[in-house]
Amino acid sequence: MPTTQRPEAVFTHGQGSWLWSSDGRHYLDLVQGWAVNTLGHAPPAVTQALAAQAGRLLQAGPGLYNDRAVELAARLAGLSGLERAYFTGSGAEANEGAIKLARKWGQVHRGGAHQIITFDNAFHGRTLATMSASGKPGFERLFEPKVPGFPKARLNDLASVAALIGPQTVAVLLEPIQGEAGVIEAEAGFLQDLRRLCDELGLLLMFDEVQTGVGRTGQLWGWQASGVKPDVMTLGKGLGGGAPIGALLAREAVCCFAPGDQGGTYHGNPLMCAAALAVLDAVTAPGFLAQAQQRGEQLHAGLQALARGLGSGPVRGRGLLLALELPQPGQATRVAETLRAQARGSQPGLLVNAVRPERLRFVPALTISAGEIDLALKMLGDALQR
Ligand code: PMP
Repeated sequence: MPTTQRPEAVFTHGQGSWLWSSDGRHYLDLVQGWAVNTLGHAPPAVTQALAAQAGRLLQAGPGLYNDRAVELAARLAGLSGLERAYFTGSGAEANEGAIKLARKWGQVHRGGAHQIITFDNAFHGRTLATMSASGKPGFERLFEPKVPGFPKARLNDLASVAALIGPQTVAVLLEPIQGEAGVIEAEAGFLQDLRRLCDELGLLLMFDEVQTGVGRTGQLWGWQASGVKPDVMTLGKGLGGGAPIGALLAREAVCCFAPGDQGGTYHGNPLMCAAALAVLDAVTAPGFLAQAQQRGEQLHAGLQALARGLGSGPVRGRGLLLALELPQPGQATRVAETLRAQARGSQPGLLVNAVRPERLRFVPALTISAGEIDLALKMLGDALQR
């Protein structure tokens, strides 16, 4: 079904930061499945974990415990300090679970309060409830009527949040960095103020870390830069390193689900949990995040230099979730197309994402090398010059 515009090329295989199409062309990939392939394409650690698990147990069903899901829940609890975990097949499903948990919590503890304050330009997924929670321009016209109960505040504007709070408010949900909006950071002071406000009023603070989690920002969780710990956190994308898994994590005191409240045939699937365990092993290995952080600084500095040359900027984001603002309308779309289309023969193409028509987003593998970043910056600089 024609749900998005795609180039003609058909992609067949990849290795690390490189991707090949069926016509033999090759590409340096700074999109990585939309910020998914934490360890790049076909990482041996994930490949081996999947192969080994496929030979042991593919699926036991959500009505039975399986060892991989139990192990992953314990790992994530230890790493996040959020004691309870529920696994899903995608980021949107994890957020859908967070919304349900907040509404249940409101029923049990807040006299039926159910409204969740979300933000302009936020992105939380494409189920009906997560589309309703999103503030993506253009979504408001689609698939009416929406799910009610998601008043929108402005990011980094505490007064706009406070103005929406009423007796029906139960939670605040936001991304530590709005990825789809074009890499817009929630300021540390704003997150700290939100934490205080939520504590004073007895509201849940919920972070959507589907894009920022698992090392993407140079630290394991996006919230670590602010020191603000949420009550509920969702993961997806980078958690499985290419295998489709999401997670809903919550403090013990918040976890009020009872049997029958939430479920899904593939939720807690051991194959996907095995992939996530392999990703977490790699990302938490000594030196891994420091290295990714260095690559992020290298890319940031290179983009900053390009921005200075163009008289544009600023470069946005942290770690390996970065964006470059270009001066002309539509320029990011044109540059991304040019860079992809220049693949031929021994000459590679470059895959970057025009997250907005005038803004390029860079979400390479956390394992990208210094040489690959230099090459990407050179190709980008040449294309911008042309
Ligand atoms: N939340 C955020 C912050 C995201 O960036 C995305 C995906 N772009 C989602 C949720 C939805 O995740 P999925 O596509 O896996 O449902």
